[in-house]
Amino acid sequence: MKNQPFLPFTRPSIDERTIAEVGDVLRSGWITTGPKCAELEAALSERLGGRPVRLVNSGTASLELGLRLCGIGPGDEVITTPLSWVATANVVLAVGATPVFVDSDPVTRNIDLNQVQRAITPRTRAVIPVDLAGLPVDRDLLNALAQKHGLRVIEDAAQSFGAHWGGREIGSFGDLVSFSFHANKNFTTSEGGCLVLNNEEEARQFEKLRLQGVTRLSDGGMEVEAWGSKANLTDVAAAIGLGQLRQVDDFNRRRRALAERYFARWDSSLGFSLPPEDREGHGNWHMFQPLLPARLAPRRGEFIAGMKAQGIGVGVHYPAMHLFSLFRQRGHKAGDFPVSEDIGARTITLPLFPAMADADVDRVCDAVATVTAALS
Ligand SMILES: *Cc1c(COP(=O)(O)O)cnc(C)c1O
Repeated sequence: MKNQPFLPFTRPSIDERTIAEVGDVLRSGWITTGPKCAELEAALSERLGGRPVRLVNSGTASLELGLRLCGIGPGDEVITTPLSWVATANVVLAVGATPVFVDSDPVTRNIDLNQVQRAITPRTRAVIPVDLAGLPVDRDLLNALAQKHGLRVIEDAAQSFGAHWGGREIGSFGDLVSFSFHANKNFTTSEGGCLVLNNEEEARQFEKLRLQGVTRLSDGGMEVEAWGSKANLTDVAAAIGLGQLRQVDDFNRRRRALAERYFARWDSSLGFSLPPEDREGHGNWHMFQPLLPARLAPRRGEFIAGMKAQGIGVGVHYPAMHLFSLFRQRGHKAGDFPVSEDIGARTITLPLFPAMADADVDRVCDAVATVTAALS
């Protein structure tokens, strides 16, 4: 145990060919938004059934500019989940709208769509569902609900690149779909993201929002009608993405095999709650997240320290965000969303990334047993 290298909970896989291609961009004389971004947008669009795709420099920017594209702002409500990276609700605040949380489904850990229905008011403009750990929210129910109530959907698919619903890839259907290409995601550009849009008119509007509101004119001049952000991606980053796109399906297959090994090797007598096995193959296994036995929830810090002492990195994704000061100040309190609070207090993220060996899963399972026994 002692002489094995530290096993982080995730690590990107960047092959030598991709590294060489990044070198080519750096030597080319054009390192910001240019031909590599155009190539990656076209490749993503082709993969996603021809829908327009526009790159930005983060998943956060893609969500925020997606809200702005829908004209969502002060006085509007946007329904989302408290179990996500805080970006999901921060972007709603950023545009001046109000995030309205609803509780999670205890099995999938995703937003409970029945509760979404009950949270709809005359001010509700949109829903931001999150595919936690890459397990998709039920798109049939979600899109039917949105259609019935005339709501926009900005899918926070930051974690679900390559996942599917009803045999269709996430991003290839629905309303607006946002991906993140942060270093920890299944597909990375180091930092980056993209929005999948409904039509070319939306794509043109989004291009203005992503770069200072500028429209280029045919005579070489420009026009600015409205505010725009500074959120364009670089060609250096896009070159990484083109390399990842060649490999992401292999990465996701490897992640699934590792997850299956976790299920096969897991000692159920330890009292953890495992994630859904996803036998249907919808998800992309972005993360593997058991929930600690309830008695260990107050001792999560000790559990993580114990695993670290065994050479294994453990993450927490995520505490229920309505309990952060930012949202308590806005009136939230413990007890508002009991399912999310319970999951948020017990969740741990164990190592899962494509370069892991089967033996690494065995090592993690053994360490979990050792550390759990030590805390009993
Ligand atoms: C990573 C992530 C984001 C934000 O993406 P960035 O690229 O880091 O801005 C938003 N939502 C979820 C669910 C994420 O996992």
